[in-house]
Amino acid sequence: MATLEIKDLHVSVTADEVEKEILSGVNLTINAGETHAIMGPNGSGKSTLSYAIAGHPKYTVTSGQILLDGEDVLEMSVDERARAGLFLAMQYPVEVPGVSMSNFLRTAATAVRGEAPKLRTWVKEVKTAMSDLDIDPAFAERSVNEGFSGGEKKRHEILQLGLLQPKIAILDETDSGLDVDALRVVSEGVNRYRASGEAGVMLITHYTRILNYIKPDFVHVFAGGKIVESGGPELADQLESEGYVRFTGKREEAV
Ligand code: ADP
Ligand code: MG
Ligand code: MG
Repeated sequence: MATLEIKDLHVSVTADEVEKEILSGVNLTINAGETHAIMGPNGSGKSTLSYAIAGHPKYTVTSGQILLDGEDVLEMSVDERARAGLFLAMQYPVEVPGVSMSNFLRTAATAVRGEAPKLRTWVKEVKTAMSDLDIDPAFAERSVNEGFSGGEKKRHEILQLGLLQPKIAILDETDSGLDVDALRVVSEGVNRYRASGEAGVMLITHYTRILNYIKPDFVHVFAGGKIVESGGPELADQLESEGYVRFTGKREEAV
């Protein structure tokens, strides 16, 4: 059973030759079977946290630790992190022109599973996973995310999640830009993934809406580059009625 531990994590980014600290001491432990919602206003550093865990080169960890089952994640390359069982569904998924979705998924599955999936069962597996997410089969031959709508990109992220079955999934604003039907389909995909009871989920969101579909065990308020309050689902209800004003001094709705 997996555990992701984030200990006093400080992360900075350098833009125009100026180094700026974005995360200032994040502490969080996610165990297998737990879903943690990270809720916070825009610009609080939520995506930076997800990038730091995934190993994005732009984000420098200046101090602190990230451990997966006790192993030092910060020592691992991006590929090694994926093979170790970490998965990031990005807020803004990147387009990969010239690489078809079916090739991309097979390559990713081969890397993560350590061997190429058997072709016949694989084709079936992908077909079922696509149909579960209401993705048109024609998408298999399209370039990854190229020309996809926002909602189509999010479905594709959840398709990967279902096929790769990571130990720990970080879902960065998977709800943003989705209409109610797409939100339901995508949430059902996440819930199928969670159904094993062994997945650890970090569900990053600005809005409480997705939490009606994906019930969190814990809710953390993220502001100014760290977790400023933690609680159960009731904390999300409180944010829904009060917004983030108590944490930022600024009026910002959470619904
Ligand atoms: P959130 O996801 O909570 O909206 P982000 O992690 O995207 O917040 O951003 C947090 C802060 O870090 C913002 O002020 C943002 O402008 C800054 N930031 C994030 N990434 C970069 C980057 N690559 N270059 C410069 N500034 C960045
Ligand atoms: Mg500190
Ligand atoms: Mg973000």
